[in-house]
Amino acid sequence: MSSLLQQITARITSEGPISLADYMAECLLHPEHGYYTTRSPFGSEGDFTTAPEISQMFGELIGLALAQCWLDQGAPAPFSLAELGPGRGTLMADLLRATRAVPGFHAAMQIHLVEASPRLRAQQKDALAENQVRWVDSVDALPEQPLFLVANEFFDALPIRQFVRDTEGWRERRVGLSDGALCFGLGPEAPQPALEHRLLDTKPNDLVELTPAAAPITALLAQRIAQHGGAALIIDYGDWRSLGDTLQALQAHAPVDPLLDPGSADLTAHVDFEPLCSVAQGAGCAFSKLTPQGVFLERLGITDRARALAASLQGDALENLIAAHRRLTHPEEMGNLFKVLGITPGHIAPPPGLLS
Ligand code: SAH
Repeated sequence: MSSLLQQITARITSEGPISLADYMAECLLHPEHGYYTTRSPFGSEGDFTTAPEISQMFGELIGLALAQCWLDQGAPAPFSLAELGPGRGTLMADLLRATRAVPGFHAAMQIHLVEASPRLRAQQKDALAENQVRWVDSVDALPEQPLFLVANEFFDALPIRQFVRDTEGWRERRVGLSDGALCFGLGPEAPQPALEHRLLDTKPNDLVELTPAAAPITALLAQRIAQHGGAALIIDYGDWRSLGDTLQALQAHAPVDPLLDPGSADLTAHVDFEPLCSVAQGAGCAFSKLTPQGVFLERLGITDRARALAASLQGDALENLIAAHRRLTHPEEMGNLFKVLGITPGHIAPPPGLLS
């Protein structure tokens, strides 16, 4: 039995069943045995591939969109250029290269990375070696100044709670033990004030999800943006509001049982954008229409960028570029599943590529 499985089993034996959020937090960020603390999960050798790892075009276009927002808001200096969950640092490296030619942008920026994993912090340090970078543990540690921020596949990694609708209330789906093995079970029925609105669009036995950490993080970044100016681009797989079990465990690019070997697989869930928009609005920000990634990237000119890159490529390199363009934008690949949300101060138009 792995040490993390032993620890979780001991915890459930003494405390009783734990929420899925507690289970996910142990699996992903346990200081010794957590998935992000012990592994480098990205790329063809790892467990999953993300948009910035597929092509440099992704980070370049995000960078130019944020730089345009910065120019449109009068090029404030200094400002925080921030990323939540930067992975290997690839998106930030591509963003920085693409924005080098924007006058004043690099001189005014202070790069802040919000990253929980010491191992990934070390990789980010290597990827961004030429830059001065500050790491912070959470969004509330970002300085009180204009904030231009990107979060790609960050919110899907936050722990979720799941609830199954009963007649009038909800039963939480929890992780317990059966014959010594981890298993899912349901807690007692209880009202859930945060799910009041979901009583209107669900019926008994439907399952809905909550991400407890998502709203406080969004509120903090929206407060900075409302007060000091800036913009946030949040990109993730999901939709306005989800229904049903979206928990996914991936290992070597294939789905696995999320309870079998805790800490060994990436655990994610679809992001519900509705609560992010509500708290952003509550903090005084405007939010854009939720836009499919493919549409967003096309509006930013990804096809022109791909043509420009293609001009100097041949053979496999050219084939790879064409495949990457398709993968990022095609509705049957990442183009439709992934959505983009823009957050700006209340009176300011959304970032390029997005509509209000
Ligand atoms: N944005 C990157 C990586 C996505 S994976 C990319 O697109 O390739 C999720 C990232 O979020 C990892 O860097 C992980 O370590 C980080 N992360 C997950 N939970 C976190 C938390 N609670 N606080 C800070 N970082 C977190």
